[in-house]
Amino acid sequence: MLNKIGCILLLFFSFHSWAAVESMVDISIVKSKQGDWTVTYKTHKPASRLSFIRNPDASRIERWQPNDSSFEIVSIADQEFIIKQDGSYFTQVSLLLTPTYQHLAKDYAPFSPYSDGGVLLYTGRLFACIEYCLDEINQWQFALQVPAGEHIVLNGTVQQGDASWIDNDDGRNVYVGPQKPLETENVIAVIDKGLPDRIKHSLDADIPKLMEYYEQGLGKLTGIKPTLFASYANVAGHSSQGGTLPSQIFMHWDQNNLSSKVSDKTFLNNTIWFFAHEVAHLYQGDFYGDRDESWLHEGHADWLAARALLALYPETEGYVTHKIDRFRTHCATGLTHFPLVEAADKGRFDLYYTCGLLIHQAIDLALQQQGGNDIYDLWTAFRIQADQGDKKASDLFLSMTEKWTSPLLVARIKAILNSKLSNPEQSLTLVISGDF
Ligand SMILES: [Zn+2]
Repeated sequence: MLNKIGCILLLFFSFHSWAAVESMVDISIVKSKQGDWTVTYKTHKPASRLSFIRNPDASRIERWQPNDSSFEIVSIADQEFIIKQDGSYFTQVSLLLTPTYQHLAKDYAPFSPYSDGGVLLYTGRLFACIEYCLDEINQWQFALQVPAGEHIVLNGTVQQGDASWIDNDDGRNVYVGPQKPLETENVIAVIDKGLPDRIKHSLDADIPKLMEYYEQGLGKLTGIKPTLFASYANVAGHSSQGGTLPSQIFMHWDQNNLSSKVSDKTFLNNTIWFFAHEVAHLYQGDFYGDRDESWLHEGHADWLAARALLALYPETEGYVTHKIDRFRTHCATGLTHFPLVEAADKGRFDLYYTCGLLIHQAIDLALQQQGGNDIYDLWTAFRIQADQGDKKASDLFLSMTEKWTSPLLVARIKAILNSKLSNPEQSLTLVISGDF
């Protein structure tokens, strides 16, 4: 385990060659005065079952209770479905949701509670389709109703009472609760007031600082001003999670010992690294990546985090050096049995961070040795081409890297990605040797 902070990145508009097709499943969510959350699905035609886009586990069975006992959620071959027990068709079903934090492996939590009773809701969790979710289905009509006195923060705006929107791609986070967002020069912020001052201060000061830093290398963000959500459940948990979606960056702490942890230097360094990693994602641009090429954006975000910490917080040099050393050992040990592209299938997603950082570090150093360019220049050029073409992102990135650096370096990187190595340590040493 690298640390207890996990990051998930599900970017992307990608290179959809198909036109988005409407799901024909309308989704309405109601939060009652008593704090109950109900989701209702209405289908445009009778359905024998509803399936979900996202199936990280089977926890809906426990956490979603149909209002009508003739319905149930079942899991078949790692997919959850809403069905009627007698197999008959239906056009509407309502379910009571459990609005507490639930860690989902490699997926966003459905609810991230704030300590004042507010909550961040992740809409992608609710996307459903009649029968099966085909790739081209990518449009859901959403409606949300909340009790008087609570706000909805949606797409950077504040709304009262109710809201409706069309959702798509990987969905979005929507805040519901008593807190009004604070708009600053860089972000719209919904920061949990219960977080320790040290973390609140870091969110207030370090996030804008990091944004300005990345802006210099990767250009200004386009589109709407990003919203920063930081929530703290303050319960007996032990996980933290963060992620980014278009124009959103979010972090959740599901633990109750933050006030004592903020006196621990390693915890503070891990936190600033975590922020730097997440903010880097905002500046990478939207591109589609398959799971097996996650070294591209996760490794890149981690290497940028290293560069950002060294540039903005020079006192973290020892921490960063030590971390990169650990990444090397971690990556070399992990690649003993399979190549990096197989890491996701082997349940070793963590290797995309550690090996990915080393790959981007090697490329950056090679660029700098040649003089004139660095990883920011290459990524900026890559982002433009990725937007225009339909090539697999990692293939495009490596072919550009080859042009910008050397065929030998890219051949060595490809060996790490695609071959089971007889001596991973030696292969990594070669990649980062700068000798090519
Ligand atoms: Zn990430």
